[in-house]
Amino acid sequence: MEKVRLQKFMADAGVASRRKSEELIAKGHVKVNNKTVTEMGVKVDHSDRVEVDGMPLQTEKKRYILLYKPRGVISAVKDDKDRKVVTDLLEDVDERVYPIGRLDYDTSGLLLLTNDGEFANHLMHPRYHVEKTYVAKIEGFLATEDIKKLENGIKLKGFTTAKAKVKVMSKEKKKNTSIVRITIHEGHNHQVKNMFEAVGNKVEKLSRERYGFLTLDGLVSGKYRDLTRQEVAELK
Ligand code: URA
Repeated sequence: MEKVRLQKFMADAGVASRRKSEELIAKGHVKVNNKTVTEMGVKVDHSDRVEVDGMPLQTEKKRYILLYKPRGVISAVKDDKDRKVVTDLLEDVDERVYPIGRLDYDTSGLLLLTNDGEFANHLMHPRYHVEKTYVAKIEGFLATEDIKKLENGIKLKGFTTAKAKVKVMSKEKKKNTSIVRITIHEGHNHQVKNMFEAVGNKVEKLSRERYGFLTLDGLVSGKYRDLTRQEVAELK
């Protein structure tokens, strides 16, 4: 590995963004080979011992995983109530990956995991508008004006959603349900469920089928694959 700037090394190890890492360096939180560094410009590689507040950084191979999350699994690396977490599904992954954002416990679909902190921060930043497409089974039917509201932005607690794409795929008259495909750019907690609830339709089932250009093609629920180098490069 070529030596890289200390703040990049820290960001890659998931400490914080590059800018925050620079602040940590300037404030004297970072030691390289047992000496506190406060100046910018120091370069390091894996042979150097880097510590932040006395904790050595673990640097390991970068992994980028696309998981088909099943329902009934928590999007976290551990759970207080000992429920199954997404990393329990990874069999041959030694790197300490964690989910990029979250899908609800009862939501299935496409979830990315990585140990590349800078990559995760980048994708989760609100300015980076990655499109996410969900398929929702909702109670009842959407009126034309409800579709317009969902598409143009709807008021939720504390914010108004950005523009979305909405397409009713099918309606089950007897069961009083509809299947709707919705594409959003943001990632607020329970956003899709809250959007449908705001127009009076409870979500019964939710699945994320697309994240940017990534889909679940070739995967079954509970399985995963590594992203290709090209896919990682395109997301960066
Ligand atoms: N919106 C939701 O309501 N839940 C999810 O899991 C993802 C998006």
